[in-house]
Amino acid sequence: MRIGIVGAGAAGLAAAYDLGKAGHEVVVYESAPFVGGQASTIEVGGARLERGYHHLFLSDLAMIELMEELGVDGSLQWIPSTVATYTNGKMYPFVTPLDLLRFKPLSFLDRIRLGILSLRLQRMKDWRPLQHLTAAEWIKANASPGIFTNMWDPLLRAKFGRHHDVVGMPWLWSKFQTRVTSRKGMFGREVLGYPANSFDEVFEALQDRIKNQGGQVHLESPVREILRNEIGATGLRVEPEKGDPFEQDFDTILATNASFDFVKLIDLPDDYRSKLEDVHYMAAVVLIVEMKHPLTSTYWMNIADESIPFLGLIEHTNLMTKEMYGGNNVLYLTNYLDRDEPMFSMSKEELLAHYLPHLKKFNPDFDESWITKVHYNALSAAQPIITPNYAERMPSHRTPVKNLYLGNTTQIYPEDRGTNYSVRMGRELARMIMDDADKSS
Ligand SMILES: Cc1cc2nc3c(=O)[nH]c(=O)nc-3n(C[C@H](O)[C@H](O)[C@H](O)COP(=O)(O)OP(=O)(O)OC[C@H]3O[C@@H](n4cnc5c(N)ncnc54)[C@H](O)[C@@H]3O)c2cc1C
Repeated sequence: MRIGIVGAGAAGLAAAYDLGKAGHEVVVYESAPFVGGQASTIEVGGARLERGYHHLFLSDLAMIELMEELGVDGSLQWIPSTVATYTNGKMYPFVTPLDLLRFKPLSFLDRIRLGILSLRLQRMKDWRPLQHLTAAEWIKANASPGIFTNMWDPLLRAKFGRHHDVVGMPWLWSKFQTRVTSRKGMFGREVLGYPANSFDEVFEALQDRIKNQGGQVHLESPVREILRNEIGATGLRVEPEKGDPFEQDFDTILATNASFDFVKLIDLPDDYRSKLEDVHYMAAVVLIVEMKHPLTSTYWMNIADESIPFLGLIEHTNLMTKEMYGGNNVLYLTNYLDRDEPMFSMSKEELLAHYLPHLKKFNPDFDESWITKVHYNALSAAQPIITPNYAERMPSHRTPVKNLYLGNTTQIYPEDRGTNYSVRMGRELARMIMDDADKSS
């Protein structure tokens, strides 16, 4: 079989690897000049670093197994994480569950209640009874008003902006599940995984395997149209950055791009198209700040304070040593937002100027002169908003067009999107494509 794949992110590359391994001819087209999609990297102080902060949880078995299979698991390190929440002008550590008892923004009774509620959610293994509710509805029904108002409502607003009250409860459930499985023991510390050579090592290894198996990966080659006849999909029209547009015939097409991009490539029946268009994606803007000194001693800082214009402060060199990055401290300042929000259109310089006055809140000694370099990254399909009862509306991988498959982050459910789930999905899609071909032959 000859298979054309749109996108060289985790899903597209994992699928191409398995299809090639099984003897099929794969050609991957990627619009960017690099592989890895949302988990792609830049150079920082002589090392590779993700454009958006990335780590793994102990439950990310699909990614861990793939790394073992590719022989790049040797660099995977598991490191105790440091997490905190900034609220009411203070940073509160959440390193062990006991830190909850010191979380002053909640009354003492609410801290105990929140502990019990968290345990309840962690032990809940079936998400189905929760799927008709929004996260906000579930918290309001199960927690005290103090917990909702002082803890969860600010966090939901920070992460999802104007969509804070429509996010489905399975999202919150899955967050608790991944975090609890990444703790060593019920009351132990969370450990997070990071490949010391960055996620790039995984994508490069995948790319090498694909090529060694006879496949091709073409960068700067956006697909502009999925070609079809009355029976099904037949090929791709590609408009490379360098060179002339061309059309290629394929037996099967797998698209891994965002739904809003996919619908532009081919006419689809209304019911399937509307499922794709119904899922709203939030965009993300990320500043990577290289600094002479650390800002905090925390890796992951949630911001539950509307006066601060970013939602997360992730200090990568509080997880990995700064020596890896030429001695630079590396800090991500991140925001999820809608593409029509003014901050999405701000330049790197404007964003930095907007954020700078707030950094002293995390370290009064901070001075602009600490900053040695700033990188900017904007992603338009960073976080799909998955609303209640999504299982019934989730677009299927088999599209209504024969021989055309779709695998993107809107089809990961009930878990939240992540590299692990895109790898799992890519590999499942490879299996599905081969099974379908076997059945029809
Ligand atoms: C800020 C941020 C932080 C994250 N943190 C983590 C984390 O800590 N851990 C974790 O596991 N995951 C994390 N994720 C999620 C993770 O990066 C993604 O879920 C995963 O990388 C998605 O992979 P994918 O292959 O499904 O999609 P993508 O990575 O989006 O890949 C799709 C590819 O298709 C290409 N493409 C699009 N249109 C076309 C076209 N027309 N022609 C050709 N190519 C096209 C795109 O350029 C892209 O490379 C994070 C995401 C973000 C945004």
